[in-house]
Amino acid sequence: MAKSQALYAELVGKLQEVQTLESTSALLGWDQETYMPTRGVEVRARQLSMLASLGHAAFTDPRIGELLGELAASELVREPYSDVAAVVRETRRSYDRARKLPAELVKEMAATAVMAQQAWTEARGKGNYSIFQPWLEKTLGLKRREAECVGYKGHIYNALLDPFEPDETAENLRGVFAELRAPLVELVGRIVSSGRRAPIEILHRRYPADAQSTFAREAAKQIGFDFESGRLDVSVHPFNTGIGPGDCRMTTRYDENYFGDAFFGVLHESGHGLYEQGLPAEHWGSPLGQAISLGIHESQSRMWENLVGRSRSFWKFFFPKLHAAYPQATAGVSPEQWLWAVNHVEPSLIRTESDEVTYNLHIMLRFEIELNLLTGNLSTKDVPAVWNSMTRDFLGITPPNDAQGCLQDIHWSHGAIAYFPTYTLGNLYAAQFYQQAKSDIGGLEESFATGDFKPLLGWLREKIHRHGKRYSAGELVRRVTGRPLEAKPLLDHLTRKTKEAYGV
Ligand code: ZN
Repeated sequence: MAKSQALYAELVGKLQEVQTLESTSALLGWDQETYMPTRGVEVRARQLSMLASLGHAAFTDPRIGELLGELAASELVREPYSDVAAVVRETRRSYDRARKLPAELVKEMAATAVMAQQAWTEARGKGNYSIFQPWLEKTLGLKRREAECVGYKGHIYNALLDPFEPDETAENLRGVFAELRAPLVELVGRIVSSGRRAPIEILHRRYPADAQSTFAREAAKQIGFDFESGRLDVSVHPFNTGIGPGDCRMTTRYDENYFGDAFFGVLHESGHGLYEQGLPAEHWGSPLGQAISLGIHESQSRMWENLVGRSRSFWKFFFPKLHAAYPQATAGVSPEQWLWAVNHVEPSLIRTESDEVTYNLHIMLRFEIELNLLTGNLSTKDVPAVWNSMTRDFLGITPPNDAQGCLQDIHWSHGAIAYFPTYTLGNLYAAQFYQQAKSDIGGLEESFATGDFKPLLGWLREKIHRHGKRYSAGELVRRVTGRPLEAKPLLDHLTRKTKEAYGV
């Protein structure tokens, strides 16, 4: 027992070293996006590349493999969700993957990502897919090799999905997405044919950046984001990054002619931040101190952004404050008009600008295309045509060019294939968790109306945050809600909202 405990302590110590290197990279990455002068880019690339290779060497140290082997045979892993069992299981997963990937493949993927991203930027600027196509082809070839190196069961997609969403499969996603798709298409159709349009002009009045920053900070603080353990800064592409206990960075951007971007963006990033701030500090460095998956991370951001931040009770508390913060922009606007505007639904071409109802259709389209590209059922040259015809089927609109179609997202260019489904998983998990929170906590939404978000945050801390990676996403959702992941809670939420806003 004492010997096994010493081995466990040695393993955790090694993982903490790896995490120290990785969190230093994360901090440099944050700085690069926020304050680094443009000319600092070359030195920064050297710093990041050196830290990456030190991190890789530290993590693939054969001693970690030995420790995993000895611990797996010890009595400490007998209970499958004990600290040691969870740490051994999750470390084994990433250790094997890191060891199975040949260094030359990793290097080639990194180099290709840089070139492909350049080609993608040019292709998108010119609306010319043929500039990007050979790079997509090359990226897919490398990703297929990656999948073969690490191995997989079922669809080849599963090999690439695993690092983002451990244990999730293409087969399962297909099932859940199929449940979601037809009802969503139908819902969008009903909204469009209702002929009713939310008064979104009120969101596009003048909202001074200073006032936006103050108001968004106030909201983040109110829902529980701890500014003594975190920061909010400005970057072109908003993100959140947990540096470690007591240090979580989030960013946003301010458009003075649009209220929604920064405000809901900050609620979203705060949701990620609350998860990071709720991970157990004593387990920092080991899987027990890490988020389960991208989908679970996204469930936290989407819950605060959409289920809470666009709700009637949330605005009952915040509307008077909004009015005080922007007396001119909100002059003559009623709470009802405001609520409708922030819940407006309309088919649009760009995923990142789409609303809660249509968003998932954008994801399903990408998922289908990725599946078929990987198996070779779809050739890269046919991507624009398939993209456009699926957009027509799903959303009833057609992209006028590829810049607003298949070239709109950066993901494929840097090799992030099988990443998109984690966004919809986030929406699904968010709705299912939220439904459970409402049934577990009496008067949950009434508390929002008084500005009290502690009951929900306390519930999330207890049910999700404090566990780190102890459970897989699928196991967690079963433990918390008593059910496997399902489409129904999200569909119920969207249907209810649409009824309220559009009367259909
Ligand atoms: Zn997010």
